Amino acid sequence: MPDYREIEKFKNVPEDDWNNYRWQLRNRITTVDHLTEILKISKSEKENLEKVCRKFGFSVTPYYLSLIDRNNPDDPIKKQAIPAVNELYNAPEDLIDSIAEDSFSPVPGVIHRYPDRLILIVTEQCSMYCRFCTRRRLVSQLDGMASSKDIDRAIEYIKKKKIIRDVLLTGGDPLILGDDKLENIISRIRAIDHVEIIRIGSRMPVVCPQRITEKLCKMFQKYHPFYFNTHFNHPDEITPEAKRASEMITDHGIPLGNQTVLLKGINDCPYIMKKLVHELIKIRIKPYYIYQCDLAMGTSHFRTSVAKGIEIIENLRQHTTGFAVPTFIIDATGGGGKIPVMPNYLISMNDRKVVLRNYEGFISSYTEPEDKLSRCPGSCAVCKEPKFNVRRGLSKILETNKFALDADDIFGERERRARGEGV
Ligand SMILES: *Cc1c(COP(=O)(O)O)cnc(C)c1O
Ligand code: SF4
Repeated sequence: MPDYREIEKFKNVPEDDWNNYRWQLRNRITTVDHLTEILKISKSEKENLEKVCRKFGFSVTPYYLSLIDRNNPDDPIKKQAIPAVNELYNAPEDLIDSIAEDSFSPVPGVIHRYPDRLILIVTEQCSMYCRFCTRRRLVSQLDGMASSKDIDRAIEYIKKKKIIRDVLLTGGDPLILGDDKLENIISRIRAIDHVEIIRIGSRMPVVCPQRITEKLCKMFQKYHPFYFNTHFNHPDEITPEAKRASEMITDHGIPLGNQTVLLKGINDCPYIMKKLVHELIKIRIKPYYIYQCDLAMGTSHFRTSVAKGIEIIENLRQHTTGFAVPTFIIDATGGGGKIPVMPNYLISMNDRKVVLRNYEGFISSYTEPEDKLSRCPGSCAVCKEPKFNVRRGLSKILETNKFALDADDIFGERERRARGEGV
């Protein structure tokens, strides 16, 4: 395990300071000059990095920087945190807003892509700017706090939309906000009757685990059901500090999930990913998603083929604990939303049998019942609840007398929502 005292610049930092998130955030490394005091950087490299930093935000916590193995030029932590000259290259497929979030934003800070849930961007700042970030169009900005007027409007929007049952606080990194400011937002969301669950997404357990304090977790606990999702990409990130932070979150009854981005040269390997999910479940974090790297500007050097993600799932599913296997997702370009992809296990079928292959390549089958029709009474109590009474997407074809979805079925709702009208 790396020791921060081995870094010349930090060797005299008292442990109390090092373990204090305020110290970590105050002492973030944000310029290339600052960085050269810690890492060996050649003069020509320095000029290039300065160019990158003029284009995209740069910031890393002393803690995350201390995890870099300075003898390894391909260190996975370094690749995530330290700018690279490749970021100056724009591939033809790169896009500013690749998943078209801006077109789903009815009021500033809200991205309402799926009918029953939305995300609320409470800040555009992070303690560490991941070099592959899909929201780099936002997080490169320096003045990125949502104004209290924006928050008021976002909360009004949620209040008005009775269909919203799940609110996800994100950013940037929401834990950049102080506890009081966060509690102000969370308590106002919790006061809305139709909001069933609240979630938060933060990379702090990975890049600044000191931010996870007893006080913070006690605050979250008041607003249950409350869920936390974090973002580990590599087993080297699972340190004693990260373990302490993660266990503190789950000890307060907050389920902790993880999303990973599939990154070339960092974790594009079935064995690294298997080790990562094993290390995660050892500290009680449930692997949730693996994302195909989005087409964000200047990130093409991080992207792998989609096949790599499928290979990773092929090597996990049934080869290890079922709940350690995340879902592999492509967030479709242009606003298609999250689309799960996986290896094929269904080989063939007729009207009585399905033929399947298992994880070992063994081919087997399942015989279906003679009478396959379900016995839905058509109008049980659940079906009568308004929110389960709407047929969306393919269920509109499957359960109504429509033969195909027309453009209005697919896009009408999106348009109306983008204009802030009812759904
Ligand atoms: C990912 C995401 C969500 C949450 O999706 P889940 O699959 O429910 O975790 C909600 N809104 C937007 C815009 C998203 O990108
Ligand atoms: S923590 Fe999240 S929002 Fe912030 S830079 Fe990393 S990926 Fe982007």
